[in-house]
Amino acid sequence: MKRRKFIQNTSLGSLGVVAGATALGCKSEVEKDTSMIASKEQKPAPMVIATWDVPNAVNKAWETLQENKSAIDAIEAGCRVEEADAKNQSVGYGGRPDRDGNVTLDACIMNSEGDYGSVVYLQGIKHPISVARKVMEETPHVLMAGAGAQQFALEQGFEKENLLTEQSKKEWEEWTKTSNYEPVINIENHDTIGMLAIDKDGNISGGCTTSGLAYKMAGRVGDSPIIGSGLFVDNEIGAATATGMGEEVLKTVGSFLIVELMRQGRSPQEACEEAVERIVTKNPNYKDFQVGYIAVNKNGETGAYSIHPGFVASEYRETGKNTYAPGSFLKNAE
Ligand code: ASP
Repeated sequence: MKRRKFIQNTSLGSLGVVAGATALGCKSEVEKDTSMIASKEQKPAPMVIATWDVPNAVNKAWETLQENKSAIDAIEAGCRVEEADAKNQSVGYGGRPDRDGNVTLDACIMNSEGDYGSVVYLQGIKHPISVARKVMEETPHVLMAGAGAQQFALEQGFEKENLLTEQSKKEWEEWTKTSNYEPVINIENHDTIGMLAIDKDGNISGGCTTSGLAYKMAGRVGDSPIIGSGLFVDNEIGAATATGMGEEVLKTVGSFLIVELMRQGRSPQEACEEAVERIVTKNPNYKDFQVGYIAVNKNGETGAYSIHPGFVASEYRETGKNTYAPGSFLKNAE
C-alpha cells in the first residue's frame, strides 16, 4: 500500500486509536500527531520558497505553477534556471570546482508521494536536478553517483559539456597558490539552491542543487543530495531544505529534523530555529560556518533561520514576490 494511503487510512481510523490510547493514558500524543495531518479541505494556495535571492528561479517556478503544472514541475524548472546561470558559482554550470579543478555536482528532488531521486558527484552534465528526477521516475533506485550517474544521464539524452567557466577556472588557479581551505560564510549570497513548492492541488515537492563547497576534497559529497539532510518532504506535514556547511547538516539530519518537529506541532519558524540551535549546541565552532534552513508546512506557512546573518529567502505567492532576511542565531556578522 502506498505510504500516503496508509496515513490517510490511519487518520480515518484515528478516532478509534485515540479512544484506545486514552484508556492507556497516552491520548495527547496520539492526538498531537494526527492533528498535524491537514485534511483535504484545508488546501493552501500555491506558493514557492527558495534559499537565497534567486528572483529568476522563483519567477520560473511560480510561472510553472500558474500554468497549472505540479509542484515537482515547478521545482525542476526553477532549479534549472540557477543551474544554467554561469554567474551563480555555487550551482551547475560555472560552479566552483573541487581542489583538483573538477566541477562535481549534487542534486536531489522529492515529490508529494514521498518518492525521491538524487545524483551525487555528477560531472559534465549541466542539469543535475533533471537527472535526479529521471533517477526518481525512470529507475528502480533513488541515488546514483559519479560515472554511473553520468552514464545514466547520457543514456537519457543529456549532453556532456564542460562546466568549468573561465571565471571559475581563474579563481581556482588563484586559490591553488595558497590552497588554503576555508569555507566562506554566505559566499556571494546565492549558494546552494533549495526550493520548496505547493501546487494548486495542495501538494508539496522540493529540490536542492549545488556544486558543493568550493575547493572541497575530490570525492566530497555534502548534504544537498542526501534525503533528510539537504531536503525532506512529507506531504502530510511539510518540507524543509538547507544551505551552508553540508557536514553539519548531515550530522544533524537537518531537513528531516525540521519536518519531524513540525509533525510534533512546531511552526515552520520554530522548527528551523530548533534545527539551527541543534547544530550550535553540538558544535563549539559554529561561528566558523553558516547553515541556513527554509521550511513550509501543509498550510503554506513558512519559516527560515540561519546561524549567521546574511542569509536570505525568496518567496512567491499570489500576493507577490518577497525576498527577506530571516532571523539568525548570531545577531551580528562575525
Ligand atoms: N550545502 C552545500 C554543501 O555542503 C553547500 C552550500 O550550500 O554552500 O555541499
